[in-house]
Amino acid sequence: MSESMSDSTPDTAAGAVNYCAQCSKALTAEDTIAAGDRLFCRSCYVSLRAELEKVVASMSADVNYPQAAVGAVLGGVVGALAWWGFTALTHIAFGLFAVAIGFLAGHGAVRFAGGKRSGGLQALSIAVALLSYLCAIYLVNMTFINKALATQGEAFRVGFPPQSLDLLIRVVRVDFGVMDFVFLAIVVYEAWKIPRPIALPPEAAA
Ligand SMILES: [Zn+2]
Repeated sequence: MSESMSDSTPDTAAGAVNYCAQCSKALTAEDTIAAGDRLFCRSCYVSLRAELEKVVASMSADVNYPQAAVGAVLGGVVGALAWWGFTALTHIAFGLFAVAIGFLAGHGAVRFAGGKRSGGLQALSIAVALLSYLCAIYLVNMTFINKALATQGEAFRVGFPPQSLDLLIRVVRVDFGVMDFVFLAIVVYEAWKIPRPIALPPEAAA
C-alpha cells in the first residue's frame, strides 16, 4: 500500500515528476505545457488545441441565418407580448421583461440555428430585440392612449400597425425616460451575450 503510494508519487528533492494528462508519458521540463489546471506534453497539447479550435470554429460556421431569424423573431414577439400584457394589466413597466425580450430573441436565434454562435447571430439578435422592444413600447403606449381617447369620447384610435411613421414615433416617444434607456441597454446586452462565440483562452506559450 505504502509502496504503491510512493510509486505513483515519486517525490524527490529534485522535484515531482509530472505526467501528460492525455498520453500519460512522464514529462520533462522542456516538454511540459500547462493548460488550465492540467499538464500536457508538447505534441498532445498541439493536437488537443487544434481539435478544440476546430470545434469552436465549426460553432460559428455554416449558420442558417433565415432559420435563426425566425427563432429570434419568435422569441422577440413572445417577449414583447409578455411585456405588453403585463404592463397593460398592472400599469407597471416591469424591467424584467426587457431581459425577457433580449433573452428570448438571443436564445431563439441560437436554438433555431442549431446551437450555433457567431457575430452575425449577435447582430441579428440585437436588431430583432430592438424592434421587439420598440413594438412593446408602442403597444403599451397605444393601450393607454386609446383608453384615454375613449374616456374623452374621441373616435380616433391609435392602431397596430401604426397608421403612419409619424404616429409611430410620436407614440413611442410618449413618456420615454431614463428607465427606458436602461431597459434598452439590458435588451441589447442580453441579445449580444447569448449568441456570443466561445472564446478560447490564449494559447499557452509553447
Ligand atoms: Zn502527451
